[in-house]
Amino acid sequence: MTSAIIGAPKIRQTNLFIGGKWQESRGGKRFPTVNPVNEQLIVEVAEGNEADVDAAVKAARSAFESGPWSKMDARDRGRLMNKLADLMEANLDELAALETLDNGKPISDAKAADLPLAIDCIRYYAGWADKLTGDTIPIRGNYFCYTRREPVGVVGQIIPWNFPILMTAWKWGPALASGCTIVMKPAEQTPLTCLRLAELAHEAGFPDGVINIVTGYGQTGAAIVRHPGVDKIAFTGHYETAQKIMIDAAQTLKRITFELGGKSPNVVFADADIDAAVAGAEFGLFFNQGQCCCAGSRLFVEQSIYDTFVEKVVARAKTRRLGDPFDPKTTQGPQVDADQFNKILSYIDKGKSEGAQCLTGGRRFGNTGFFVEPTVFANVTDDMSIARDEIFGPVLSILPFKTTEEIIERANSTYYGLAAAVWTRDVVKAHQFAARVRAGTIWVNCYDVFDAAAPFGGFKMSGMGRELGAAALANYTESKTVTMSLA
Ligand code: ADP
Repeated sequence: MTSAIIGAPKIRQTNLFIGGKWQESRGGKRFPTVNPVNEQLIVEVAEGNEADVDAAVKAARSAFESGPWSKMDARDRGRLMNKLADLMEANLDELAALETLDNGKPISDAKAADLPLAIDCIRYYAGWADKLTGDTIPIRGNYFCYTRREPVGVVGQIIPWNFPILMTAWKWGPALASGCTIVMKPAEQTPLTCLRLAELAHEAGFPDGVINIVTGYGQTGAAIVRHPGVDKIAFTGHYETAQKIMIDAAQTLKRITFELGGKSPNVVFADADIDAAVAGAEFGLFFNQGQCCCAGSRLFVEQSIYDTFVEKVVARAKTRRLGDPFDPKTTQGPQVDADQFNKILSYIDKGKSEGAQCLTGGRRFGNTGFFVEPTVFANVTDDMSIARDEIFGPVLSILPFKTTEEIIERANSTYYGLAAAVWTRDVVKAHQFAARVRAGTIWVNCYDVFDAAAPFGGFKMSGMGRELGAAALANYTESKTVTMSLA
């Protein structure tokens, strides 16, 4: 395999960004970020401690309460956001390369998906900045009553490593449009692009303290959650982390929104466009090395077409090109780190020992790096751990079903509820499925279609609140009722 370092960008920032200044951690500690292709150190990054978080919260508080941000016209906030989007576009190749270096995702995906979606998200919310209106409310008596929508304040944003740039944009967009200020912690596995985006935001002209980045591990995130100066936490990650965050946030009754995991059902009826469904099954699971919270990891196929469908999916999985993510032809890079890699391999072992049939893959790919072969299991049953747990890797379970009633019940028999898809030419069946499956997003004859304008989030243990669209603005605003006597 060629070296992943070919085409790697210069790393400009590895320190904390607090109050518009790049600074070392007050504890002097640094942590490694590792290249998942060759398992070598990329660079060490400052590890923020409680004192750093406190400094970042103070900077964000002061920018929110007395800085130029608090007095800025909403239209000017929108203009700054558009400027940031322009800078992201101008630096697209560099940002994509940095993302590929740190995360391992194919450069072609970073360029064609992550960056355009992130830029679009910032532009979409830039347009919202001057459109956050309240209501006038007819109440009893001689009063004039209206509501104002005000920013919630300082927000702590904690993101995972699977889409570092995109998750940053999803979080910054509605927060900045609403007039909030930010203390963000990117994931310890992938801190580099978030730091670069902060640098671009500074270049765009965001006032000091509006965006602060404190890199570090989970305890740095916990310090943000516990800080009394933070008004709201927006978190994307594992539900067990969300449970800890909920407990920590309870001390100060912070507002919280969560976007968590899933075990999404991807359901193919016999009347579907089979080739489209096969392509959707592959993309829905293997995209981003299977590291998607909405991955279609439970592929249910109607019994009458099960055998042929499985054959076609296996053939397609075999065409995936693993290798150097900087090679534009690569379609699958390594998993993000050793922990994820080992977890996935242990699930593959469990699948085999629980009696599922591994039709392709099932092993590490190569000898170096965290590569896992695209793996397809058939004859999976609902009780197997590969059908129940979120694996977050390139492991697809295919299960047969017979009737619509049965499949709706089985699709819902999970504590997750993030996304689901159905493939059918029967519109009645499609709408019934969409209405009865308890998940925040339903795709019909498509998979992983995202748009900044379309809300995304989970039912049940897949989350709380919605990201994207107008829905996300509710997470970052408080409603204030003003009642004035006209007597
Ligand atoms: P994943 O399993 O995808 O790595 P995690 O939930 O462990 O998901 O991590 C997502 C983000 O949450 C990361 O930025 C991580 O550092 C952070 N995090 C982990 N533990 C905590 C915690 N107790 N409080 C706040 N943030 C945390």
